[in-house]
Amino acid sequence: MKKLVVGNWKMNGSIESLSEIETLATRHHDSTIDILICVPAPYLVPAKQIAGSLYIGAQDCHTASQGAYTGDVSAYMLSDISASHVIIGHSERRAAHNETNTLVREKALIAQLADLCPIICIGETLSERENEHTLSVIHEQLIGSLDPNLNSSSFVIAYEPVWAIGTGLVPSETEIEEVHGFCRQYLLEQFGNSAEYIQILYGGSVKGSNAERIFALQNVDGALVGSASLLADDFSVIIEALENV
Ligand code: PEP
Repeated sequence: MKKLVVGNWKMNGSIESLSEIETLATRHHDSTIDILICVPAPYLVPAKQIAGSLYIGAQDCHTASQGAYTGDVSAYMLSDISASHVIIGHSERRAAHNETNTLVREKALIAQLADLCPIICIGETLSERENEHTLSVIHEQLIGSLDPNLNSSSFVIAYEPVWAIGTGLVPSETEIEEVHGFCRQYLLEQFGNSAEYIQILYGGSVKGSNAERIFALQNVDGALVGSASLLADDFSVIIEALENV
């Protein structure tokens, strides 16, 4: 399976900082892995123009294809401007915009209908981990967020423990492998043998300093990276770690 590394710029960046993407596109033009940068919506078109062989994606979409939803963006619009992927159900959206598993499920389905590859985010909070509820929370999120009608050849799972995002904290290798193995098993049960090829990404404080050891873990097919994706020099170290697996 091809590995995938995703940069999530969140609500950061500017026209000027798109030069970071230009640098990455030059440096990694013949990469053996898929490299995707999910920029804020206003920068999708200019980012696409300079991205070369890198993929450009969005950070959210609406459940409807069009209509009276002021301020929202539809999956079809993202597809129209040649975005390839869309992040769905990031924990920041689940928390700040009350996004439920049901909403995530609807968004992921319409993203696929619009020919986008949804990156469906799941992950436990610190108190859920401390109370040993991690696997039951992950199970519930997988059941609720993945529609059985999803095409297994074009969606990605991102396991992102909420407590690891932007904190510098990272689960142990055993903990990451346990959750990724659990996800793989669930996907195989739901989608059959083709689920071997569904990319399962780890996200949460991935840096150049820990990328190599995370990418060596079983069922870790890449990463979703926040702050360390903003500067080309930082992100390149992570990209190279995944290229060298
Ligand atoms: C994220 O935004 O999904 C993320 C993992 O952020 P960070 O890498 O900064 O923890």
